[in-house]
Amino acid sequence: MLTHRRTTPPIAVRRRTSPRGLSAVHAAALALVITGASLLAACGAIGQGADPSPSPDPTLSRTLAASPSPTPAPTPVPTPSPSPPWIPGTPWPGPVNMPILMYHHINSTPPTTALDASLTVTDADFARQLDYLKCAGYTTVSLSQLYDGVYSGAPLPQKPIVLTFDDGYADAFTNAFPALQKRGFTGAFSIITNFVGAAAAYMTWEQIGAMVNAGMEMTSHTLTHEDLNKSRDDIVRQQLTLSKAALEEHLQRPISFFVYPSGEPFRSGTPARQAQVVQMVQEAGYRGALTASNKLQQDPRAPYAFNRIRVSGGVDIRKFAENMAGPLPEKIGC
Ligand SMILES: [Zn+2]
Repeated sequence: MLTHRRTTPPIAVRRRTSPRGLSAVHAAALALVITGASLLAACGAIGQGADPSPSPDPTLSRTLAASPSPTPAPTPVPTPSPSPPWIPGTPWPGPVNMPILMYHHINSTPPTTALDASLTVTDADFARQLDYLKCAGYTTVSLSQLYDGVYSGAPLPQKPIVLTFDDGYADAFTNAFPALQKRGFTGAFSIITNFVGAAAAYMTWEQIGAMVNAGMEMTSHTLTHEDLNKSRDDIVRQQLTLSKAALEEHLQRPISFFVYPSGEPFRSGTPARQAQVVQMVQEAGYRGALTASNKLQQDPRAPYAFNRIRVSGGVDIRKFAENMAGPLPEKIGC
């Protein structure tokens, strides 16, 4: 099923890049590539220091509840190629810039810590971002639709985008879900299955079921948000298979995608460890998986390492557009 289709030479991709290849957005993207590496290195260090284990204990503070994916990394590394460069109706010939956005909290409660602030997008900012995406012509697609497009050439809209929401927080149901529905958008929500309904900060199975019935997609985010870089292999396998089984049992549908907690082992693991974990994800029966690598590009040769652009709290709409290499709002009247 997950055959790695051979890619055609990069020339085929490059040939179609010229019409929009020299836009101001791409010039800005090139500049970001230069400055991005050092910033990401610094953010990685900050993230590791501030990575307490999440807990479903209802008595814990909101800050602890918000802790599963504290990997603040405000500046992504867009790559200077157009999106979409593929021929509709064909599998992707090679790497393509295709935004998969990563959100955590959506709410307007004043944050109590810097980490909380970085993980929380206000309702007003979220609404502004969704309105921009709609105005700029983006269409949300599910991960299943995306992978069907990438590997089988199934039809994708002109400007596809995947919106993801990590950790299964209660505000995914109360705040993100209605804002998406209002605009006819869909999202993919990554669930830490042992935390479901275990604390007020997390969604219940009933809420998750209601979202699925309304067309939202659920992905596994392990049982307990384990670090898959550091965990023993038997633990990794357990986290991958039991979380998938729990979601499938509660939702009565196949769960095909996995989201690495804190992006590990793709943040601090060796290439060898990454390959080991990818193999375990594949063996557990997943079709694909998402990192937190803060990159715009998706490489068909790496179905278990599609990238995401982090949306941090406090990012203005211009920066939001720039981070995903979208058109600047003022240039398109959005
Ligand atoms: Zn997480």
